[in-house]
Amino acid sequence: MHSFAYKNGSLYCEDVNMADIAAAVGTPVFVYSKKTIADDLADFRNAMAPLNAHVAYAVKACSNKAILNLMAQQGAGFDIVSGGELWRVINAGGDPTLCTYAGVAKTEPEIRYALEQNIYCFNCESENELREINRIAGEMGVKAPVAVRVNPHVDAHTHKYITTGTNENKFGVDITRIEEVYATIAAEMPNLHIKGLQMHIGSQLTEKQPFVDAVVKVMPIVKKFMELYNIEFWSIGGGIGIVYDGCLESGKPEWWEAHPEQITIQSYAESLIPLLKPLGIKILIEPGRRLVGNAAAMLTTCIYEKKGEAKTFKMIDAGMNDIIRPALYEGYHEIWPVKEHQGDDIVADIVGPICESGDFQAQNRRIADVKPGEVLAEMSAGAYGFSMASTYNSRPLAAEVLVDGDKWSIIRRRQTLEQMVADECLPE
Ligand SMILES: *Cc1c(COP(=O)(O)O)cnc(C)c1O
Repeated sequence: MHSFAYKNGSLYCEDVNMADIAAAVGTPVFVYSKKTIADDLADFRNAMAPLNAHVAYAVKACSNKAILNLMAQQGAGFDIVSGGELWRVINAGGDPTLCTYAGVAKTEPEIRYALEQNIYCFNCESENELREINRIAGEMGVKAPVAVRVNPHVDAHTHKYITTGTNENKFGVDITRIEEVYATIAAEMPNLHIKGLQMHIGSQLTEKQPFVDAVVKVMPIVKKFMELYNIEFWSIGGGIGIVYDGCLESGKPEWWEAHPEQITIQSYAESLIPLLKPLGIKILIEPGRRLVGNAAAMLTTCIYEKKGEAKTFKMIDAGMNDIIRPALYEGYHEIWPVKEHQGDDIVADIVGPICESGDFQAQNRRIADVKPGEVLAEMSAGAYGFSMASTYNSRPLAAEVLVDGDKWSIIRRRQTLEQMVADECLPE
């Protein structure tokens, strides 16, 4: 559960009034709850305790240094997708030997850096990538630990842009070819050490069945690889969904079918443990969204309102450059006024300042009739929120704040205009 709630008519994060943060730091600002993140990580650990399971936090969901440092302090490993993310983890005090490295287009400098840092394992996505890692490891005189991502052809029932486990996706090696690929590694790539097998079928899965289907489908291959190659781990990926729509919702995106049984950390664990426990192999899980998604809200200020022929618009000071999820994949975020309203709901579009029709945070939304100057909280903004932000329309990056009980700290200063253009220069 998250740590955002109204107290005496004001929205709080833990024991901090969000209005105080908005007044001190300005908007837009992302506000993270330390307690929510720590609790959710502990929930994963406890739920998976019957297994030899390890959490590798998927850094791309939210890569702020303070968040990575918090994960490191709690003993989490990291699932990374670039050399930049590996650098961030190390810079934040994380342990590179607890890093698994995914991604379809790892470059030579990235592979060298990861080998130098002695990462736990490369999760590879093609034979050509394996050959390249084999070549580089040979030059460096080391053995590279590898797993291959198997694509199990399971439909994750999620939005098409975040489905990864069907044969139409660029990710992984087809399940029909995976044994052949492992045999090729063993026969032809002496500088690789086969360490595990990996899969990841998509993101924001709201039901447990696709996870179960994928585990059942890949299980015989894992057993075979344990015998043939003595593999040490099976990574079952991330993708556990969160609840975006609760009390103030109206109108769900079309792809979101009614899911009476929304997945929880407990139901996820309970459905998989009986399948996985008999194997006795180390299990890695790579949650991103589920660890940080509900742990943050973005505060934004209403700037204007406009009543058109067909619609009412509330213009806010945050745009798709700050949170791109609604524009990119019909992402849904609840929007609550920081100062509680009673009984003045209207239906409106909440739109940003960017010159794109796709720049909305909510459409046809039942929402309190907030007035210009009022602060709104866009909920569940912790995952793929700030980490996908840009400066499009020359809008400096937002600030980030971490709340801990009744204290809060800035964990990213608001970008200045000078910083925004600091790397630009005129030609010689
Ligand atoms: C993005 C990603 C994850 C995390 O996905 P979530 O939906 O945020 O849990 C895990 N593993 C891999 C390989 C990924 O690319």
